[in-house]
Amino acid sequence: MNTLALPCADIHCHLSFPEFDADRDHVIEQLRTAGIQRLIDPGTGVESSRRSIGLAGDHDFIYANVGLHPHEANAPLSPAVFDELAMLARSRKVIGIGEIGLDYHWPDHNPLLQQEVFRKMLRMAISLDLPVVIHCRDAWPDMLRILSEERCSVLRGAMHCFSGDLELARRCIALGLKISVPGTITWKKSMLPEVVSAVALEDLLSETDAPYLAPTPMRGKRNEPAFIVHTIRKIAGFRPEPPEKVADTLLHNAITLFDFP
Ligand SMILES: [Zn+2]
Ligand SMILES: [Zn+2]
Repeated sequence: MNTLALPCADIHCHLSFPEFDADRDHVIEQLRTAGIQRLIDPGTGVESSRRSIGLAGDHDFIYANVGLHPHEANAPLSPAVFDELAMLARSRKVIGIGEIGLDYHWPDHNPLLQQEVFRKMLRMAISLDLPVVIHCRDAWPDMLRILSEERCSVLRGAMHCFSGDLELARRCIALGLKISVPGTITWKKSMLPEVVSAVALEDLLSETDAPYLAPTPMRGKRNEPAFIVHTIRKIAGFRPEPPEKVADTLLHNAITLFDFP
């Protein structure tokens, strides 16, 4: 695989997570050489969103999302949490609401509470006119139903770390969302090759979801934003356009969606 860096965007990277505490500055220094022009650090709750905003404030090409991960939504939350998130979402360099969504993968999940929180966060995004970054795992019927019931015609955003098939991808795109492709596209048994070869390039985005889901040949290691080159070159392998054009379009798609200030 050609691992030469290409100008690109990592629209979902948890650089503010503790996994990077020991060497965060070094990882950030490598971003430019890795071709990363824009990086978005998503929040997963109040504290995490604060850390994302702090990190974005220190670096000109890092931006933040304010979010409430479905893992945080399996027990009742006080209204103060939503007030705090809405306040944080007005901070400089916050360019989206995420990650938010539904995750029914783990045994202790509470679907009804997750759905209620997800709807509140969708409405927050609509009222602040911000794009959404959605996490969906093993919850597609409820996800599609809620997106249809909420005012999704005014929603824009990304299905982060997309894990569905082509049919689901098409339904998400029809709802106004883009498909964000993580390093799992390099794994065997991934359904993403079928998706990325069939949809329009304008409907795709690139992400690492670091520190998780490192692409082959780094699988099993801590994922890093610089590894995104493996994902982008893999995507390009399923496209008729040359890799430079693919990377450039994915970057442009991110800039159009998130409207980086
Ligand atoms: Zn996620
Ligand atoms: Zn994530």
